[in-house]
Amino acid sequence: MNSRNVFRALAGAIRFNGTKLNRSQWYSSRKCHSNSKNESGQTNSGQLSYVQRMKMLQNLREKTGMTEEVIRNGKCLLYFKGDPLLTDDFEIAWMDFADLCVEPKLFLENALLLGMTDAGQFQFAVQIAGFGPELKQAVINKSQGNFTDFRLSLMMMSTSESALASKAKAIFNWHRRNTHCAKCGSPSARNSTASCRTCHKCEEVWYPSLSPVGIVLVADSLKTKLLLVRQGRHPKGMYSCIAGYVDSGETLEEGIRREVAEEVGLTVLSVDYKASQHWSFPTSNLMIGCHAIVSGNEALDVDTSELEDARWFTVEEVRRSLNAIKSNPLETMSSVKEGTNNFFVPPRGTLAHALIDSWLINN
Ligand SMILES: [Zn+2]
Repeated sequence: MNSRNVFRALAGAIRFNGTKLNRSQWYSSRKCHSNSKNESGQTNSGQLSYVQRMKMLQNLREKTGMTEEVIRNGKCLLYFKGDPLLTDDFEIAWMDFADLCVEPKLFLENALLLGMTDAGQFQFAVQIAGFGPELKQAVINKSQGNFTDFRLSLMMMSTSESALASKAKAIFNWHRRNTHCAKCGSPSARNSTASCRTCHKCEEVWYPSLSPVGIVLVADSLKTKLLLVRQGRHPKGMYSCIAGYVDSGETLEEGIRREVAEEVGLTVLSVDYKASQHWSFPTSNLMIGCHAIVSGNEALDVDTSELEDARWFTVEEVRRSLNAIKSNPLETMSSVKEGTNNFFVPPRGTLAHALIDSWLINN
């Protein structure tokens, strides 16, 4: 997905907000109803402990598998050609299996186990593109949600929901690209929860893979400025943190020191781990977020084959941009597009946003 497509979707989302405001009101009432029925958000009654939920998910994956009874009692995150069904507030527009009016067998072939709510309701993700052309419009009408550009969704959703959307997309992609055994070349088959594939011939079991990516917010040693960079595939005007794959044989710290040296020509003096996040764009990655210090006296030497731009911003510039993207992300992003704003930092669904936020809180 390139930035043009992201902004086509962004523009659509903005128009949508402007013309169908009643949808969010409808969803507010729907969410309250859902909480009282399934998630008990305001009370502790009926909630399972973390350990209970993990044991139930493990049992489903490793022993019982997904059955018709299980899917009838769960709730579904729908995808159409890689885009999730969301409300206009970028929340998951959960649907019941019964709402889809499809055979359980067809559902199971296109679904995966996503997780479980605190109240013990299983969560699934399902791709509906193979369910017939009428279903897409039917679920849009019924849910009043919309299939939303995947990358825009990740940036705009809450952290907890973007984690679910990211996980589902990564697992669907892995199964699509790994239909045969890497050991003997024979076809493999997925299990019912989609947590693994087993080779028909040699019975080797394969699990979805992910790659470690170091992502780092760089500050000078006096903590007066922050380094942010632009990749060509970023939405127009967005400046983010330096990121790159950790190579085989490297520690996280070595990978980050190398990426900063390669991409902007600076020497990292210290690296501190802060947080991690799964990110399924463009492939399945474990983003490992750090803060780093450089001396600030070296000149930037930007690798233009990797980056479109890299700049030092004052702490106040970054703080203003963060506050703007927090308070009104769509307006802030579109104001850059229209030329009334210089830059923006990534929205809330991203680890870069969290790294910038935590740096500003603690410095
Ligand atoms: Zn095999």
